[in-house]
Amino acid sequence: MTVAIYFDNSATTQVDPRVVEAMAPWHTQAFGNPSSLHSLGRQARDAVETARAQVAALIGALPKEIVFTASGTEANNLALVGAIETAAPGRRGLIVSAIEHPAVLETARASPRRGGELHIVPVDRDGLVDLAWLFDHLTPKTRVVSIMAANNVIGVVEPLADIAPRVRSAGALMHTDAVQAVGKIPLDVRSLPVDLLSLSAHKFHGPKGVGALYVREGVKLQPIVHGGGQERGLRSATENVAGIVGAGRAAEIARNEMATDNARLIALRDRLIEGVLAGCPQAYLIGHPQRRLPGHVCFGFAGQEGEAIRLMLELDEAGVAASTGSACSASHAAEPSYVLQALGFDPFRARGALRLTVGRFNTRNEVEQVIELLPRLVGGLRPIAAARR
Ligand code: PLP
Repeated sequence: MTVAIYFDNSATTQVDPRVVEAMAPWHTQAFGNPSSLHSLGRQARDAVETARAQVAALIGALPKEIVFTASGTEANNLALVGAIETAAPGRRGLIVSAIEHPAVLETARASPRRGGELHIVPVDRDGLVDLAWLFDHLTPKTRVVSIMAANNVIGVVEPLADIAPRVRSAGALMHTDAVQAVGKIPLDVRSLPVDLLSLSAHKFHGPKGVGALYVREGVKLQPIVHGGGQERGLRSATENVAGIVGAGRAAEIARNEMATDNARLIALRDRLIEGVLAGCPQAYLIGHPQRRLPGHVCFGFAGQEGEAIRLMLELDEAGVAASTGSACSASHAAEPSYVLQALGFDPFRARGALRLTVGRFNTRNEVEQVIELLPRLVGGLRPIAAARR
């Protein structure tokens, strides 16, 4: 089945052809190891450093503050574990939000084993973190507060600018999982006082398997991958040169084109919301209506929440790739989403999200086709939620 319309850009994005082109020579011609001293090696080193500068520029960082990793997941692990391991025994507490990606939540859940106390901040019905609760739980025992810049399931953008200064003035480190936000909304660490920030190239039209952690100058971390001491000792392993070059080029394109891409994506997103809500009386928008990523839509269908997977599969049959939440939890697709439950959905309704995420290569015509198609598919679903209640 060929996918005619790809509306799952929060799961991953199509690699931009300009990125593929930039990566190609680093596989076949200039394939040296950046640690080698001969000219092929030095060329590879230069390419990695150029990419580091490109990724740094996207978030207003210094190149030396970027540590390349093999994924956003690894960047999150390095941030949390690395920060806890360097903390004094009495300061190993961790605060994370209830809707963090498993790469943060599961790492955080392991933190008590490292001697830290874990607090999980609730969110409101729109998915915004409860600031009062968070600030109440900030104590001299807190080492790291980790709040995502934008949520992968509901697309909500968290108020980091209100959180980060308070966290730092309490003497804790501020980490943000910005995997869904980098390359999509402006983020600048010169004005946003975060200490650690995770990103992942495949979410902004770069290759899979390349992430990075921004580590503010002066912040001390313990590595989680030990070996030859690459990446200033913070992430040993021979660098994935072609992938890193691709991440750099993708960052450069995102930086240059974000303003125009965003205006277009916001228009597509808003048309999708308006069209689906008008065509499907049972549809409702999940997540804050304004504070959301460009291109990100998440719908529930009242009375038919248990049928979200069927709806997604029928869309797939019709050539539309969508998602019921997070690709990272495809194996748990039939289970209630912990993100929706954190928003106050009961376990039944929490099984029922349809995530449609548009990106750089989607068109207005595709949005119109989905607006056309969805009411017919939703109309054919059985209202099993009502029957079960
Ligand atoms: N954090 C968030 C918010 C994500 O959406 C994802 C991927 O979906 C990750 C982390 C993991 O990134 P990666 O796929 O690069 O490991």
